[in-house]
Amino acid sequence: MRILIVEDEQKIAIGLKKTLESELFAVDTTQNGNVGSQMALINDYDLIILDYRLPDKNGLEICADIRNAGKQMPILMLSVEGHHHFKADMLNAGIDDYMTKPFSTQELIARIRALLRRPPISVDEILIINDLVCDPKKYIVTRSDNEIYLTRKEFSLLEYMLRNQGVALSRAMIMEHVWNEQVNAFSNTIESHILNLRKKIDKNHKTKLIHTLPGRGYVLDAR
Ligand code: CA
Repeated sequence: MRILIVEDEQKIAIGLKKTLESELFAVDTTQNGNVGSQMALINDYDLIILDYRLPDKNGLEICADIRNAGKQMPILMLSVEGHHHFKADMLNAGIDDYMTKPFSTQELIARIRALLRRPPISVDEILIINDLVCDPKKYIVTRSDNEIYLTRKEFSLLEYMLRNQGVALSRAMIMEHVWNEQVNAFSNTIESHILNLRKKIDKNHKTKLIHTLPGRGYVLDAR
């Protein structure tokens, strides 16, 4: 699950990124409203956090850009404003939720999980394929009741594949949802993570779950 944070207060942005990464989200940040708007349109984020007051473009304007482009991902706004009419403006503009600064990080994470739980994306349920079971909230994966120890990235990769079972996933799609933009798209990061994941979940099992689709990418399937 990949999140964009548009926030000009460096301290808040860095703190949030750190916290969300510790919850296994891939996170991009920018301090600039125009850049944030462009990033939101170019990349396929699962959720966007917008600050309201930014030097160049405010959060509502960025939200309008995103919604006008037909993008439906949940948007959470951070704001120092607390007036009722302002909250109504936010919700009318297509903001899904907002938090008034200063906010509690724990509450923010709970709100993010609640937003991601709305269909069609869902974060808290148990994900299952064949005899493999994954609990995204507790970061536990088992196959045939044996626990499998995955690195954070392997876990994020498996979670993304589990949420898209039977779907051909290109390298670009995997890159979009599992890594932030600091990863070189031409590196062999994805291949090496798939290789390791395969070793951990498929080795010694008759039914293979990860399949390579030559020239197209990968699919998680219990065929
Ligand atoms: Ca601000």
